[in-house]
Amino acid sequence: MPQAMDLAPTGAPADPQRVKELDDLTTALNAQHGEKKSLELLDIMINDVFKDKIALVSSFGTEAALLLSLVSKVKKSTPVIFLDTLKHFPETLEYRDDLIKTLGLTDVRIIKPEPSALKATDPDGDLALRNPDACCYLRKVVPLEEALHGFDAWINGRKRIHGGSRAALPRMEHDDRRVKVNAIATWTQEMIDEEWEKQGLPEHPMVQWGYTSVGCMPCTSLPKPGEGKRSGRWAQFDKQECGIHSLDSKWDDTSGGGI
Ligand code: SF4
Repeated sequence: MPQAMDLAPTGAPADPQRVKELDDLTTALNAQHGEKKSLELLDIMINDVFKDKIALVSSFGTEAALLLSLVSKVKKSTPVIFLDTLKHFPETLEYRDDLIKTLGLTDVRIIKPEPSALKATDPDGDLALRNPDACCYLRKVVPLEEALHGFDAWINGRKRIHGGSRAALPRMEHDDRRVKVNAIATWTQEMIDEEWEKQGLPEHPMVQWGYTSVGCMPCTSLPKPGEGKRSGRWAQFDKQECGIHSLDSKWDDTSGGGI
């Protein structure tokens, strides 16, 4: 059976023709739809431009319910990919299952890392403590690429207000393979709070304990006082993102964005 690196299509050189097509497509999509409101943009992407070829990737974290809710209003059978790293808090898994029911989502795909790759690369399950980039690559980057096979586009919930590499996010971009729709990139905290209340969305259970961003157990702590919402992620490492948005993502890469 292949090991983690063998499974990885992410390090393969990009096809220049495909990159050019995606450059042209995202430029056109941004020009035509870049200013549209999120619900309308999602409707166009899900029901027209990428009909049956688009998925939402969600962490079911502290802010995920908003985008999940918008997508459910457009089409409840939109494929939703959840990367089950096998390192999530039980609270996240319960929240995921509750939200699926509440929003009526009918095609949530729970994607786990390949057991043989885990056995080969992280037999003791402690890779996150030694090399979190390698762990994210094994448990997120490779499984996501496998899960997105056959899709032309994917929706994610990154926002400009998160700062860092997210501060200048376009509405549509690409990763050399497929289009990424940053459907709520432009939302402010006030907009999020207002819509959250309007829709009566449930909070992730760990919000009540002070968590503002929740990922895997070994890599999530309470945010640092006075620092950003994501400051509790990989707090013991010089790492801000999991790498699923990075071009040529490998386990020495900490650039790009997270879900
Ligand atoms: S967030 Fe942590 S535990 Fe989860 S895949 Fe990345 S390094 Fe591993």
